[in-house]
Amino acid sequence: MIIAIDGPAGSGKSTVARRIAELLGFHYLDTGAMYRAVTVAALKRGIGLEDESALAGLARAVRIDFGYRPGEALPSQVLIDGEDVTRAIRLPATDEGVSRVASLPEVRSALVAQQCALAAQADTVVEGRDIGTVVFPDAELKVFLTADPKVRARRRIEQNEAHDIGGELDRRSAYEALLARDEADSNRAYSPLAAAPDARVLDTTDLTLDEVIARILTWTAEIRKGEAQ
Ligand code: C5P
Repeated sequence: MIIAIDGPAGSGKSTVARRIAELLGFHYLDTGAMYRAVTVAALKRGIGLEDESALAGLARAVRIDFGYRPGEALPSQVLIDGEDVTRAIRLPATDEGVSRVASLPEVRSALVAQQCALAAQADTVVEGRDIGTVVFPDAELKVFLTADPKVRARRRIEQNEAHDIGGELDRRSAYEALLARDEADSNRAYSPLAAAPDARVLDTTDLTLDEVIARILTWTAEIRKGEAQ
């Protein structure tokens, strides 16, 4: 079973997707981390973000792995060619460049192929922007999370603090960066951020994490029950 969880930055996708995967014993795939990893690789190698063919070549050549810290049930480390970039992928410079990198069709097709191969191995919760629309249009459950932009910016700051990069982004620039990324991700020509027509849209602005989780677990149970009949 594939559970696709899409939505804009700070909508709660990562926290929700991880919890759902833990509770159901599913694998977890953070596709945003893959676009971020290619962006970090480009920045480290001095590849300009306007150089489409070099970025496409990089996305095809670079090896992205997810690693487990001791005792973890789900992976939280991201490695590119064996190098731990878990922190680097969350830095403001990566935030700034990632939408550009993710707008390129050849970068996307290289990463989508990897996403399909990874999720084919087991029941997986996959989070991203185009999972329900493009990557897994046949996912059994598609959820599209939204939330008020101010709430999303606050969550993003809290998430950055958890990744130990809190001081590098103040509230105002977090909000502006988030709006800029929403705009770029929603308006790109290829695989824009969008809810699939059959996605269940959930506004998380006034919901607690537990309420969101409970809603998704109920949907999952309903779908499984329907499949068993
Ligand atoms: O989910 P996260 O905020 O880490 O994603 C970072 C960026 O990666 C997004 O702003 C978007 O540009 C890109 N992305 C994408 N398609 C996905 C996942 C992420 O274009 N499936």
